[in-house]
Amino acid sequence: MSFYDAHCHLQDERIASRVEEVVRLYGNLGVRASVVNGTCEEDWGKIARLGKSHDCLRPSFGLHPWKAPAAGALWKERLIELWDSNPNSGVGEIGLDRWIEGYDLSIQEPVFLWQLEQAVERDAAVSIHCLRAWGRLLELLESQPVPKRGFLLHSYGGSEEMLAPLAKLGAYFSVSGYFALERKERQRSVLRKIPLDRLLIETDAPDMLGPKEFSLYRFSGDEGLNHPANIVGVYSFVAELLGMPLEELKGQVEDNFIRFFG
Ligand SMILES: [Zn+2]
Repeated sequence: MSFYDAHCHLQDERIASRVEEVVRLYGNLGVRASVVNGTCEEDWGKIARLGKSHDCLRPSFGLHPWKAPAAGALWKERLIELWDSNPNSGVGEIGLDRWIEGYDLSIQEPVFLWQLEQAVERDAAVSIHCLRAWGRLLELLESQPVPKRGFLLHSYGGSEEMLAPLAKLGAYFSVSGYFALERKERQRSVLRKIPLDRLLIETDAPDMLGPKEFSLYRFSGDEGLNHPANIVGVYSFVAELLGMPLEELKGQVEDNFIRFFG
């Protein structure tokens, strides 16, 4: 049984030069696939190259809500070209964010909706980011078509009440190590209720560093970054959270990952 990272950013300039080292470590640890998400135009070419040079890295191209206001005039054309020329690539990271200072939903929403439409047309695996906009996100997902295969809510931080309506629409929920931090108890009680057949696991590396006990891998010289190999620690955290043997969890998440990402 292998490990799978449903959402990370290996193209991030803080760790891009360490990708070879990460992929070698993936091989030693049994990490079989890792979904690399773009957030802005500068990322996309790098992600396409990573996908071509490493079988275990799955490219996903998208415009993040934080980056939506600065998008160039041809961002849609470039995305279409990338999705077309990278078969089985995902759509992401896309979403809504009312947490970031100066957010403007009138810019974010059309950017999100156009990318969601593209995911529907291609039945692509879409990775959705949401901060403090859960009500609006649910409204949009309930009123728009969603991809047949479902959609991923990455690092799920919504409420327990929203799990059922989102799952009904086809949601998968991925858990990051960040929620292992002591102050995140409220969130952990929500994560325990995720339907098991919709559970995925992610690092969001190099961000979302969890507590030390579950984040044993560090980059020398950059100790504050979340190392992608910490996916192994996030699995341990989730196994503990759910009171489930690690091997059983790995089997369940493998089934879910393959069903969703293909
Ligand atoms: Zn992310």
